Amino acid sequence: MSTQPLNTWIQIPQNSDFSIYNIPFGVYSDDTVKHHVCSAIGDYIIDLFELERAGLLQVNREVFDKKYLNNFIKLGKSKTKEIRLKIQSILCDEKSVLKTDLVFQKKVLKKQSAVTMLMPVKIGDYTDFYSSVDHATNVGKMFRDPENALLPNWKHLPVGYHGRASSIQVSGHSFHRPKGQQKPADSEKPVFGPTKLLDFELETAFIIGKSTQMGESISTQKADEYIFGMVLFNDWSARDIQTWEYVPLGPFLAKNFASTLSPWVVTLDALEPFRTKGYEQIPQLLPYLQYSGNKNIDIKLEVLIKPENATETKVCESNYKYMYYTMEQQLAHHTINGCNVNVGDLMASGTISGPESREFGSMLELTWRGSKPLKLNDGSERKFINDGDTVILRGYCQTNNGIRVGFGECSSTVNPAKNNN
Ligand code: CA
Repeated sequence: MSTQPLNTWIQIPQNSDFSIYNIPFGVYSDDTVKHHVCSAIGDYIIDLFELERAGLLQVNREVFDKKYLNNFIKLGKSKTKEIRLKIQSILCDEKSVLKTDLVFQKKVLKKQSAVTMLMPVKIGDYTDFYSSVDHATNVGKMFRDPENALLPNWKHLPVGYHGRASSIQVSGHSFHRPKGQQKPADSEKPVFGPTKLLDFELETAFIIGKSTQMGESISTQKADEYIFGMVLFNDWSARDIQTWEYVPLGPFLAKNFASTLSPWVVTLDALEPFRTKGYEQIPQLLPYLQYSGNKNIDIKLEVLIKPENATETKVCESNYKYMYYTMEQQLAHHTINGCNVNVGDLMASGTISGPESREFGSMLELTWRGSKPLKLNDGSERKFINDGDTVILRGYCQTNNGIRVGFGECSSTVNPAKNNN
């Protein structure tokens, strides 16, 4: 990677996701602050409202006193980029008032463990893609034809559907096991009850950084101008409900009961040094989907399951570089018909699986539809996710010389189904 070396005066633990090269954005609250936009460095959050109150960022302070990042993002990428660089330079400046004035420092730098991270963006519309070739192949093998796993359209366009934003929550939340219709293989009629096949989906998502008008399309070349940054995303799914309901219009209640977002938005600028080559795309795509250069990103991804009162077990190690379609292609496809996008819209990758069985991004694939249960550290087995389980996604980029840019955690816990009918 070709980034200039940066030296900060702040002590950063080794393997911290929040190195000086990251500087992500989020929103926090604590006993004294209702909601302020913040960044992160090492174990600390950086209160950007307070930093600006001292005149250090030279931007309308109001954008930092908001519940969501949307107004900040609307400043435009050239401005938010400038602010990110300014924060980096303050953190590297030995003479900075943030270093020398300890009273001020205490107001600005707060331990991450002492604050609550809030939903980073007000999500308008949520779209979920299906762009991992290894995932789509696994699912096709299981549910359709092992010889012809991919449907005819798959290698010609990034398949996607419109999801629901209302039930997307920030990391740390818990939710009920969903109920719904399922049709057991040995039954003529559907039955009703809590899902028996609750699953995670290891995904990332990008957040739209610039709105378009109806009728406008975004090219693959210009797409990065419209992407503010990325988050980790767990697109919770109820497989038994999904199998019965999805024909012919696609996923519905199997998906919209809960999804989990990581609180830090890592900017495309921070991820740029980790761009890498993706899968070769054969057959050749239509011109509007073609792109040049390295547009994939080497983001190491992990999933861990933590049963109630037990330690966590890592069950999956995947990588964002396995995506067949890039974010730029997804956005070009999404808007090729003139569909408008808005700041704060969320576009999820789809489950990210790699070619090896340890790299599969869902329990459906890891246990091959429940036929090969996983053993956890506490001795228990899982075919799917149990009540009381916490599922944790982690993701980070790292160079050989240890420069790291990460997302932190995306974690959520399953409660028993609600007993109201
Ligand atoms: Ca999904």
